Amino acid sequence: MTKILILGGTTEARALAEALSGRDDLAVTVSLAGRTASPVPHPVPVRTGGFGGAEGLAQYLAAERVALLVDATHPFAARISRHASMACAAAGVPILRLVRPEWVAGEGDRWTAVADGPAASAALGPAPRRVFLALGRQELAPFASAPQHRYVVRSIEPVDAAPFADAVFIRARGPFDVAAEERLFREHGIEVVVAKNSGGGASDAKLAAARRLGLPVVMIARPPPEGEAVADVATALAAIDRALRRETVSRF
Ligand code: NAP
Repeated sequence: MTKILILGGTTEARALAEALSGRDDLAVTVSLAGRTASPVPHPVPVRTGGFGGAEGLAQYLAAERVALLVDATHPFAARISRHASMACAAAGVPILRLVRPEWVAGEGDRWTAVADGPAASAALGPAPRRVFLALGRQELAPFASAPQHRYVVRSIEPVDAAPFADAVFIRARGPFDVAAEERLFREHGIEVVVAKNSGGGASDAKLAAARRLGLPVVMIARPPPEGEAVADVATALAAIDRALRRETVSRF
């Protein structure tokens, strides 16, 4: 059987695993970093935890005789994507990157694009504001330098050590709907939303709610992409079959 390793942690990775799970010519494994305590179940075997850098991943690929790696990690998970490129080059394993398209501002949106967390924190300005932070618990540090604001932080995992005092913490996992997001923003008197440009449909309701309420959004841009990518599962499936056909031809 041909082995495929999907680096996951995203809706797309799970959807791809689902689409491949019925294939009896393939043995598909999804790899998770282990960040969330109770990840959403997958229809294929899952391995959890880091590989020990690019070298460790290259060793894993060789030891497990992986025929193809699909990097379907989150667009902001830059390190694992870099490691995946390096490991595949070292181990001679073809790589396919699956990444959802980014969000694009439309009519009525009031977005300020910034490069990273520190720039987002600075963009909030000196006057105190009520800020909705749609960021992970590991991305809050830059906001320690702007303690004048009142933060509402929503994350999947609990925040154990917040770098600012005045904050409300909400634990929730998407998908979210627009009416509920609007209610949440009104309830907390939110004046500005900070978001990462993750793309996809599971968490874009906050942007529609901000548009409806006329709220500004500080949008953190994606880190530079690691090579070419396909944008959806259907295109990934076709690319996987093409890549595996090429592999078969070169092996026999
Ligand atoms: P990262 O900074 O790019 O990676 C840090 C380290 O975590 C990597 O060097 C690797 O450790 C390990 N790692 C990351 N993804 C892994 C995977 N799928 N399988 C095995 N090991 C993995 O990653 P991150 O931003 O912390 O994201 C971690 C995971 O959460 C990813 O799977 C990503 O798809 C998912 N996720 C991330 C975000 C986000 O905004 N960053 C949002 C939603 C989901 P070693 O070097 O030891 O191999």
